[in-house]
Amino acid sequence: MNLILLGPPNAGKGTQAKKLYADFQIPQISTGDILRKAVKDGTPLGKVAGPLMAAGQYVPDDVVIGIVEERLKESDVAQGFVLDGFPRTPGQADALDRMLERLGKQLNAVVSLEVPHSTLVERGSGRRVCPNDGAVYHVTQSPPKRAGLCDKCSTELVQRPDDTPEVIEKRLQKYDAETSPLKDFYAKKGLLKSVDGVGSPEGIYEEIKKAAGRSA
Ligand code: AMP
Repeated sequence: MNLILLGPPNAGKGTQAKKLYADFQIPQISTGDILRKAVKDGTPLGKVAGPLMAAGQYVPDDVVIGIVEERLKESDVAQGFVLDGFPRTPGQADALDRMLERLGKQLNAVVSLEVPHSTLVERGSGRRVCPNDGAVYHVTQSPPKRAGLCDKCSTELVQRPDDTPEVIEKRLQKYDAETSPLKDFYAKKGLLKSVDGVGSPEGIYEEIKKAAGRSA
């Protein structure tokens, strides 16, 4: 099963991709996660990406296209993959078409998670992450047992620089202007499935499986 999870920042793409991996062992390819790791490790890629990410801007197309192409050549994606956060621009979507053709792979579905802006801002600005083990919390919806501290390793939780309300607004504007048009692009190919992204993660997951033709 080769899927794209399309949706604005904080729509829940990462959560749903992890559920798909747990059930079907199809790896999540998250360009955001790959870039965040590069920033943390201080690699040349991280040095280019870090300031752009912190400002809510996109990393240049050629950079992310290269990352995804390398990742899609790895053996663990032979049975499928879930793209999370890529493609984000028409240029990336065209490049993905070409690289899938070269690799002899086809998309099964593009699932678009639909969530209102106000919910996205609320979700993002309340998010706190553990800089040590990556655990994710929300100040009201899934708070840690001790305020501000990771349940697993007691490290002080932080807010990602791109989770401030101002940067979230900028990221949403960018999504509407540059990424939302991809819905039309995939609708014309007959691949687009829209799923309501508000509700329990389990209920949304069932809808995603139905959309991907994999419900029990
Ligand atoms: P995400 O975790 O997917 O929301 O991505 C976090 C940030 O990484 C984005 O706001 C962008 O700055 C950058 N990024 C991730 N994926 C892409 C992409 N496909 N194209 C351009 N920038 C990206």
